Amino acid sequence: MASGDGIKIPSRLPLLLTHEGVLLPGSTVRLSVDSPRNMHLVGERLLRGTSLKSTIIGVIPNTRDPEHDTDDLPGLHKIGTAGIAVQVVGSNWPKPHFTLLITGLCRFSVSSLLKERPFVLAEVEQLDKLEQYTTPATQGVTAADGELGELSEKFYQTAVQLLGMLDMSLPVVAKSRRLLDSLPRETLPDVVASMIRTSNKEKLQVLDAVSLEERFKTALSMLTRQIDGLNLLRKTRKKSPDNEKGVLSVRKGGVFPGRQFNLDEEDEEDGDDAAALQRKVHGANMPEAALRVCLKELKRLKKMPQSMPEYALTRNYLDLMVELPWSKNTKDCLDIRSARTLLDNDHYAMDKLKRRVLEYLAVRQLKASLKGPILCFVGPPGVGKTSVGRSIARTLGREFHRIALGGVCDQSDIRGHRSWTQSRTTASLTTTSTWPLTSPKCSSSPRQTPRRPFPPALLDRMELLQVPGYTQEEKVEIAQRHLIPNQLEQHGLTPQQLHIPQDTTQGIISRYTREAGVRSLERKIGAICRAVAVKVAEGRRVTETEASMPEKPSERGDKAAPPEMPIVIDHIALKDILGPALFEMEVSERFTLPGVALGLAWTPLGGEIMFVEASRMEGEGQLTLTGQLGDVMKESAHLAISWLRANAKTYQLTNMVGGPDPLDGTDIHLHFPAGAVTKDGPSAGVTIVTCLASLFSGRLVRSDIAMTGEITLRGLVLPVGGIKDKVLAAYRAGVKRIILPKRNDKDLEELPANIRAKLDFVTATNLDEVLNAAFDGGFPRTTGEQALTQLSSKL
Ligand code: ADP
Repeated sequence: MASGDGIKIPSRLPLLLTHEGVLLPGSTVRLSVDSPRNMHLVGERLLRGTSLKSTIIGVIPNTRDPEHDTDDLPGLHKIGTAGIAVQVVGSNWPKPHFTLLITGLCRFSVSSLLKERPFVLAEVEQLDKLEQYTTPATQGVTAADGELGELSEKFYQTAVQLLGMLDMSLPVVAKSRRLLDSLPRETLPDVVASMIRTSNKEKLQVLDAVSLEERFKTALSMLTRQIDGLNLLRKTRKKSPDNEKGVLSVRKGGVFPGRQFNLDEEDEEDGDDAAALQRKVHGANMPEAALRVCLKELKRLKKMPQSMPEYALTRNYLDLMVELPWSKNTKDCLDIRSARTLLDNDHYAMDKLKRRVLEYLAVRQLKASLKGPILCFVGPPGVGKTSVGRSIARTLGREFHRIALGGVCDQSDIRGHRSWTQSRTTASLTTTSTWPLTSPKCSSSPRQTPRRPFPPALLDRMELLQVPGYTQEEKVEIAQRHLIPNQLEQHGLTPQQLHIPQDTTQGIISRYTREAGVRSLERKIGAICRAVAVKVAEGRRVTETEASMPEKPSERGDKAAPPEMPIVIDHIALKDILGPALFEMEVSERFTLPGVALGLAWTPLGGEIMFVEASRMEGEGQLTLTGQLGDVMKESAHLAISWLRANAKTYQLTNMVGGPDPLDGTDIHLHFPAGAVTKDGPSAGVTIVTCLASLFSGRLVRSDIAMTGEITLRGLVLPVGGIKDKVLAAYRAGVKRIILPKRNDKDLEELPANIRAKLDFVTATNLDEVLNAAFDGGFPRTTGEQALTQLSSKL
């Protein structure tokens, strides 16, 4: 059937391949999707799209056996239904998936495939008219339309007959009756076939019936069969004294937009979601308290229409509760000595963390009933938190589970159900008594700190163990001892085939990665292994071919000789494989003009170096701040300016024309590069002062120095947090001297001795000391002027 010139669906549709039933035009189904292609489709089209058009997708039945489904694209069924996604709900349990509520619009056929990845996109031809749902019943196919008209009239009458056999006092039946009269006749085969009891194969027949006549005939035979079945049932029930009237009941089940019903014999065998779920809940062996919660939720679920966003959420929650291994206990086998060996063998450094874990395990060994704190490792990515968790699980003989808590929120954010999902997910974590070791992964976008998803009540029960970043030397050791051997093994290589010397590892760390942990480092080593694997495999092929062929010296010269083993990765090979160095710009290159200073910041992902730049121009004493600064940081900037103005004479700071007030006739612009990241906190105070002192004095700040510290209006330097991470970041960036608050002195003890030995630390109590350390040759004051304010103050 040609679509004519009426309402058109887009000619290019992303296709969702589903094993879960058949969507027919005019009906609404709930589909759960988890295959990579479908997940991409939902993520990239449905959740990102902003137009109505972007919510229209093609649904194609995947006729391949789900058990044997592979990543290859199956032969596509030739006809599908374009549908509009009216609801998307995401969940990460038991694995990441989305639940979609889709209303079928019209049939289409696939003309050509445009792409297969990341999701299937096809050129399609619309087969049904869309406006049929908006035309009044009287204007559709009528008895006047010859044979088709007669067929449609017969279909209508049979459907009326079916409804007549049901209990009309039920609102759903009465509503269905009204619907039959109001819908145009040509839509009835699809609508009725999705309401009555039909197998997927039968629904597929209806879908494939492109001509209306065929569709009426196919659906009519199903309708008649249903009536025969009901008649039979009625006869048997009449004999039973319980059902004198022989009226059949109707259960809710199918979904239809605005009109929910599913006409069927009373039958709990399949489809009756709630009943099946109830059985599962009772059979899950969950403790009393959890069971109570589940039954309450189930009661709510039964009352909810399936089209409600909360329906899918509650359903997912109950599915999760049912699938938790409530009664599955693994027996802990604790042996502290082997735990220590395992932890040491798997992990380099991390002494403090390993010690705490062993203490915890030791207490558990002595007192099995320990209800100790939940250990929570906090630190930047790639520092080994998951890996230590995995080792602990191994030492205990427990299963290790990884649960993503972050993604859930993001997806449900879109539908406004964030807090709901979060609280449910976390609640389930705490209620289970046999919970295995887990690694909850939380979103770590710049706006969202990884710890935030934990509600305070849960956080309260946790012992937070900081896992800081690694030094360059530690990373080299981790790479040589663990990452390289692991990656070799994963790529089927041996040390006899690939050798990465220590100074190459150093090169990877300093020129190709800039991170607190070792994740990128691991990936780069993986990239090297892949490149070498190709060479080794090629070499082997050449050797094998040669062995099987009689040697022809004339041909030998054309072939690449197999590489010499082991293949050693030097700096040239490194550049060939990984490309030009990513981080070559020396910090010192930035210090070519007055008005630049290097600060140190702490982020949930580790320490960071942070440049502060200032410039001045003619103006009226305005201060402009850019670089996404928080309020506290803005205050620091104002404090810095005030202190410098107050001390301008002491340090001979001037404005652009040499006047004694640096702001006189001058506008100042302070900029914190990397503007996409919001920055806040008081610790940039000393850096801002140094940067502006450089601008107002025209002197360059030392290029090998970085600093951190809060300031007061009177020029005192107050302690700040995150010293270890900050120092490690400075060290990674090649900084030689670090200025920090005097009261942070004690934090330096946490640093590895070799790093402490290589850096020059200046601990300052006031800004005078900061400036003296930040500039070559100090930052002299004019003699006799204002002694240090904070020392002489009588306040
Ligand atoms: P996190 O969970 O902190 O993000 P992972 O545990 O996934 O980090 O660590 C990333 C990779 O680095 C893993 O392969 C892990 O084994 C390795 N790794 C991290 N720290 C160490 C360490 N101290 N010793 C050995 N391997 C480490």
